[in-house]
Amino acid sequence: MFGLIGHSTSFDDAKEKAKGLGYEHIAKGDLDVWCSAPPQLVEHVNVVSAIGKRIEGAYIDSCFVPEMLGRFKTARRKVLNAMELAQKKGINITALGGFTSIIFENFNLLQNKQVRNTTLEWESFTTGNTHTAWVICRQLEINAPLIGIDLRKARVAVVGATGDIGSAVCRWLSERTGVAELLLVARQQKPLQDLQKDLGGGQILNLEEALPQADAIIWVASLPKTLEIDRSTLKNPCLMIDGGYPKNLDSKFNGSGIHVLKGGIVEFFTDIGWNMMELAAMDKPQRQMFACFAEAMLLEFEECHTNFSWGRNNITLQKMDFIGEASVRHGFSVLGLNEASLQAAIA
Ligand code: NDP
Repeated sequence: MFGLIGHSTSFDDAKEKAKGLGYEHIAKGDLDVWCSAPPQLVEHVNVVSAIGKRIEGAYIDSCFVPEMLGRFKTARRKVLNAMELAQKKGINITALGGFTSIIFENFNLLQNKQVRNTTLEWESFTTGNTHTAWVICRQLEINAPLIGIDLRKARVAVVGATGDIGSAVCRWLSERTGVAELLLVARQQKPLQDLQKDLGGGQILNLEEALPQADAIIWVASLPKTLEIDRSTLKNPCLMIDGGYPKNLDSKFNGSGIHVLKGGIVEFFTDIGWNMMELAAMDKPQRQMFACFAEAMLLEFEECHTNFSWGRNNITLQKMDFIGEASVRHGFSVLGLNEASLQAAIA
């Protein structure tokens, strides 16, 4: 069985969902009530892949909401409790979705193997970052030419270049895609210099310097909502792949030569018959999902029960090849630009 640990996108959405599921007393509660609410296994699902492989899965709502991010102990407890529940339910491989993987990494939860009387087995969990990195690279490779960008002549900025996903994306774009130049953006200089050395190239720039030079921009950092960028300084055309969470770039940039694509999203070849993506603002919630969730499904399809994506900067091109091939074989495709964006590019 595969598992997905997720959460609602806001406290209001969470209350709405709880009401729909018949948890009236929790739905009416304030944030303090929600802080003490345990995780819930809210859905079981059966999925058959494009080559006929059948698997079972479960969705666990961690009962975390982004409004709890400032409450360190609560956030930590929510993630660990959801992982404990996944393990107790005997799930082979579970993906940490949305803020749960960020909380796991940033709050260094690796030190918290013991949850009450359960010793967490890290092998049963994956961040899903290898598949996410592969999907973002394919989204760039497929969509850039459609709007007139030749990647062999293009400058591609990676914002969050030194992160787990960003560094894997940089390695792929430099070695496999062969983009003309990588613009490496992050705040800390030392990891940027180490990455540049590893890649044997790439230009280290700050955000303001990189954006006006970039034909394509891959965002793989969670950036503040208040970030202001003067869109008139950007190139036309410019492809932006919004790989961060939450995804908030299309409202800022879409239009007049700037094409924003939701990054790290895949579409299954058929409807799955689940409800779990309804609240994740997917255009087709029956088929579309975060690539990190799909990684757990792929590992189950492949009977590869191991923490495939784990820790920071362990993603290799070989692992990206493996998960990418599995993704295509089992019926996933990467999300592309919508018709309106493509029409605007041709006009
Ligand atoms: P990491 O924490 O490993 O990396 C974050 C990167 O962003 C680092 O390079 C960091 O470097 C940089 N960064 C952070 N803040 C800023 C800033 N203000 N300006 C410039 N750079 C910044 O994260 P991951 O690689 O694990 O994840 C990256 C993003 O992808 C997250 O938002 C995550 O939620 C999202 N994600 C999406 C998935 C999907 O399925 N679509 C799945 C998994 C993750 P520095 O600190 O030096 O600035």
